[in-house]
Amino acid sequence: MALIDVEELSRSYRIGSSWVKALDGVSLTIQQGEFVAVRGPSGSGKSTFMNILGCLDRPTEGKYRLDGIEVGSLHHDVLASIRNRRIGFVFQSFNLLPRASALENVELPLLYRRMWPGKRRRRALAMLEQIGLRDRASHRPAELSGGQQQRVAIARALVTEPLVLLADEPTGALDSQTGQEIMTILRALNVAGLTIVVVTHENEVAANADRIVTFRDGRVVPEGSETPGGLDL
Ligand code: ADP
Ligand code: ADP
Repeated sequence: MALIDVEELSRSYRIGSSWVKALDGVSLTIQQGEFVAVRGPSGSGKSTFMNILGCLDRPTEGKYRLDGIEVGSLHHDVLASIRNRRIGFVFQSFNLLPRASALENVELPLLYRRMWPGKRRRRALAMLEQIGLRDRASHRPAELSGGQQQRVAIARALVTEPLVLLADEPTGALDSQTGQEIMTILRALNVAGLTIVVVTHENEVAANADRIVTFRDGRVVPEGSETPGGLDL
């Protein structure tokens, strides 16, 4: 069974009296342990697709099964629970709480669970250790470099042990060397078993993935028919 199984997925937005089809019949499976890069020009539907994978949004048509569960028809609260427990998010802009320490940021997703504070703290510290930032636990985001902030964000995303990590342009705010360091970390996490879907427009970033899925006009471009050398026809 595929971890992510998307079948004829469409998502339309109503604008005034007309409709925009952000996704138009996307079918895709992602296996447990895969590392997939999603590429495509601006407006091709990448964010809409990621929002649906992350249970932030629902398809207008089609099916989305996550770990065997048909997500589209679930009640709003159940969807929120799946999102909080089973999905890790990483963003271009890190989205850390500025007044909280690195450790408090990583602990945050565990606050909504019944868990002893001591256990919560140990889990968060172990995540920081894994990401090489244990010695920065008490630093606030402003006291960390961009790469370190993104590592804290990765630790926060993984502290709940999600089924999949969804990363939207995780290197977009970083210089290329720091970006590659982040990708090396994601690669290592993937080798250890983590399923990752990363949106990027950078070839060097996509090259870290096992598989590249290209979006255009709300559809997946069939493999082998991409334009050589880029997407800008
Ligand atoms: P990408 O992430 O590849 O840039 P998006 O998924 O953001 O693409 O957008 C796909 C299409 O859907 C675009 O035409 C965009 O304008 C439209 N769209 C995205 N979000 C909304 C929204 N909330 N309301 C209306 N149209 C939207
Ligand atoms: P950008 O890359 O343009 O800075 P983000 O990656 O921060 O944008 O946001 C991408 C999408 O994820 C948006 O639809 C936004 O509403 C949503 N989002 C942003 N931050 C969070 C968050 N902490 N939890 C859940 N959803 C978020």
